[in-house]
Amino acid sequence: MTICAATNNPGKLKELRRILEKAGFAVKSLRELGIDLDPEETGATFAENAALKAAAFCRASGLPTVADDSGLCVDALGGAPGVYSARYAGAHGDDEANNRKLLAAMQAVPEGQRAARFVSAVCLMLPNGRTLTVQGECPGRIGPAPRGHNGFGYDLLFIPDCVGAGAGTLPNTAGRTYAELADEEKDAISHRGRAMEKLEAELPRFLAAGAAE
Ligand code: IMP
Repeated sequence: MTICAATNNPGKLKELRRILEKAGFAVKSLRELGIDLDPEETGATFAENAALKAAAFCRASGLPTVADDSGLCVDALGGAPGVYSARYAGAHGDDEANNRKLLAAMQAVPEGQRAARFVSAVCLMLPNGRTLTVQGECPGRIGPAPRGHNGFGYDLLFIPDCVGAGAGTLPNTAGRTYAELADEEKDAISHRGRAMEKLEAELPRFLAAGAAE
């Protein structure tokens, strides 16, 4: 099955492609399909926004389409930036400004009260309008300063509780940020990786139910 990986975010596209191809799908990016669209994210939840994006890009591509809406929810900030993660500091997708604002907001928050989690809702929409939506989460905390070079968005500030290790996971005793993990170490525990795992697990039943209709 060829799937349209519906994101304009290069960091997410890299991860979605990596995860979908590993699961055996052929992947087409929006650029490869010549689609230049930026649907407004007006939903109140990650799942609503993922469905909204999947619908817009599925209509445009005519292909089964996977869209992800994700973000960082910080306990000490009442769940912010949440669905506004991409535009926390104002401009959409300004990672540097977003990280600066988050660090400033967390400056007075002591170690032990810096819990946060990344959330990813992934929606697969088929051209006949059927959808399958799943959600994955990764618990962790906000570090005191940016660290690492691999990744995008808030990767430099987020310290996941666990890291991927071979077929399993291990406690993140070294306190490494997402940006200090190898691709496989992040995919195995990341919010997006976990959502995609669920999608893969639920896909056969979803497709079989559609075929029986
Ligand atoms: P949206 O899903 O396009 O609304 O954007 C989600 C935003 O959340 C991104 O712009 C990033 O700032 C952040 N984000 C989502 N997933 C990740 C991740 O895996 N690492 C770092 N930041 C992320």
